[in-house]
Amino acid sequence: MAKNSSIEWTHHTFNPWWGCAKVSPACAHCYAEAWAKRVGQNVWGGSADRRFFGDKHWAEPLKWNEEAEAIGARHRVFCASMADVFEPRTDLDPEREKLWTLIQATSSLDWLLLTKRPGSVGRLAPWRSDWPHNVWLGTTVENQLWAERRLPLLLQHAARRRFLSCEPLLGPIDLSKWTKNRAADLHPIDWIIAGGESGPGARPMLPGWARQLRDQCGAADISFHFKQWGHWAPTESVSAVGVEKFWDDVEGRDVTMRANGKKVNGRSLDGQTWDQLPVAA
Ligand code: SF4
Repeated sequence: MAKNSSIEWTHHTFNPWWGCAKVSPACAHCYAEAWAKRVGQNVWGGSADRRFFGDKHWAEPLKWNEEAEAIGARHRVFCASMADVFEPRTDLDPEREKLWTLIQATSSLDWLLLTKRPGSVGRLAPWRSDWPHNVWLGTTVENQLWAERRLPLLLQHAARRRFLSCEPLLGPIDLSKWTKNRAADLHPIDWIIAGGESGPGARPMLPGWARQLRDQCGAADISFHFKQWGHWAPTESVSAVGVEKFWDDVEGRDVTMRANGKKVNGRSLDGQTWDQLPVAA
């Protein structure tokens, strides 16, 4: 699926700049911060500068758009993996302006704007009721608390597609108050991506939490993508090394999880791979 990105649910990844500041528990082990540090970029935190890019970088999506257009396809662009497009800093405003222009100029690309700051969207996005057909707006919700805080803010916006990234999933999420009136809802949730955390210090995603999201998507006609288990996955081998027991509060039972790493753990949930996508607008 991904051509110029290692993320399964997108064809390309575009970063208008690098750098960000942490805002919630989902950010605790931010891979983007770790990667930036690894390549010598000090761009994390409120007082650090951001890393900006030149014309060659900004021309890349124009090429992707031509390629998609030539084969009559729509290609998805994840924006941004190394930043948050709606981080409210004035030094980012000129870059944001360039991004809005680029989005308008690339009508064969669907831009997936994922933010942990949905409260800034109204002020920083140039659209009100006139969101372009090629923007999907998403927010991260890692547990119920952050669903309560961020989801109502996301659903205020008339983006053509709205999605949730429940990754890293850190607790159960009951979406019933936002899904039960889907038919009547002006701006419903179209897509949910769920996944566990990977890397050093990764926190486990319990199977009941993932199943709960999958089942709510099924009941509410929401597309569901299960990205990965992450570092921890359920196991039957209770005596193996790296095994711990956790209380699964959704299923009301102990579950045994093993720290095998994300490659071994894979992305199958109850024997099935979940790669659903909403249709493009
Ligand atoms: S909002 Fe995203 S990019 Fe920014 S610190 Fe949090 S996880 Fe990292």
